[in-house]
Amino acid sequence: MKFSLPCCKTKLICTIGPSSCSENVLRDMLESGMSIARLNFSHGTFEDHKKDIEIIRSTAAGLDRIVPILVDLPGPKIRVGILENEPMLLEKGSLVTLTTERVHTTGNRIPVTYSRLTESVHPKSVIYLNDGFIELEVIEVRGKDVICRVISEGPLLSGKGLNLPGARLFADSPTERDLELIGAALDEGISIFGISFVESAESIVRTREFARKKGKEIYAVAKIERASAVDNIDEILKVADALMIARGDLGVEVPIEEVPALQKELIRKANIACRPVITATQMLESMVDSTRPTRAETTDVANAILDGTDAVMLSEETAIGKYPVETVSMMARIATVTETRRRSIRSAAFIRNLLHEDLRKGQITVPDMISLNASETAMALDVKFILTPTETGTSARRIARFKPEGWILASNPQKSVCGFLFFSYGVCPTVMETAHAGWSDSILDRLKEAKLVQKGEYIIMTEGRFSKGEGSTDSLSIITV
Ligand code: PEP
Repeated sequence: MKFSLPCCKTKLICTIGPSSCSENVLRDMLESGMSIARLNFSHGTFEDHKKDIEIIRSTAAGLDRIVPILVDLPGPKIRVGILENEPMLLEKGSLVTLTTERVHTTGNRIPVTYSRLTESVHPKSVIYLNDGFIELEVIEVRGKDVICRVISEGPLLSGKGLNLPGARLFADSPTERDLELIGAALDEGISIFGISFVESAESIVRTREFARKKGKEIYAVAKIERASAVDNIDEILKVADALMIARGDLGVEVPIEEVPALQKELIRKANIACRPVITATQMLESMVDSTRPTRAETTDVANAILDGTDAVMLSEETAIGKYPVETVSMMARIATVTETRRRSIRSAAFIRNLLHEDLRKGQITVPDMISLNASETAMALDVKFILTPTETGTSARRIARFKPEGWILASNPQKSVCGFLFFSYGVCPTVMETAHAGWSDSILDRLKEAKLVQKGEYIIMTEGRFSKGEGSTDSLSIITV
């Protein structure tokens, strides 16, 4: 595999859909900075996604690249059923009836897909429809019907989401349908799953156990989109492999004005726990229809990067937008410029301060110490590359949280371990055996061949020389090219 570096250290996750699922568009997106493909299993059939997987893989092979695929599961999302006359206009002050009966609409009755709606709400409960644009207040629960007054009006279409902020829900994540989809996706060689509407660590544990029973290990990305997930974040971080801040549903499930601060808190916690974190939804939304983003969107992407996100995600922009390639290219440009300002803004200083505090208290672990030293040495010597052979990927993720200016060249013989390393900031994974002496020389040769290093420059190498297994990184060397 030819050695080349991506244009930016922030990972760009692109949702693949009708606008992007052709070899030509995908190739252009990959060449413009896309790092990871996301398939949103809330839409389309499994057969459609199987075709998407084939196209993504053949395009990646044509470019001699690894392109990890994130399968995002639907989870227990509640939706409006089929409306006969749409859009249905819900007028402020009028009464509408949500019903769990399997009906098509007549008059002001709206079918919903959640059979236990009447148990989750009570008079005065707030219900949001269509991403929070329509607000209802429950007046009465009667049999299978919930009678509501329209507080904020708007047009409603079939299949739109319904949120019950703070309500007790009788629909666990993963759902039976999620497990069916995971089973089918595992057969296609998929190993990275987004678990939607996680409430607690239990959702991740159950998903992982299901895959293990099928003899497979998975990487579980916990989508944080409910208030209960925010409350249980410390437990979730212990079992999840990564976090996605799913701001779409999160911004309806918690007051929307809390999203910016929550984003910063979640990113920080994920950084401390060495879990890659994805900031998602509406990042460059206006580019669905326009060739340029708004200033606010540009600032949003840059702020997420400065907050410490590992990856930024595009949804409708690349799935159904008019300008998928231009959007990826714009995101890559924002990331590239923002990354060069990180040091002057000291945006990753908190993690160094935190570990220095552990160091002062004599409470630092050996792998944390090595990662801190690697990041500080890289800064002091202006090092472009940190070579990190890694057994599980953890050593590379430990260094990635410091957001170094150089690249972390992680190597592991397994494609799946390398695939998941693509989610971490600044990590450039290579599938290779590192159990033999001379592996580092072969990387150095490739760097020299690609003219990425010059004679006399320094390179850092971390490795587990005296111990093996997760957390075994115990030494750091400085190599002069
Ligand atoms: C979100 O809610 O922000 C999100 C990413 O999830 P989905 O696209 O599945 O709604």
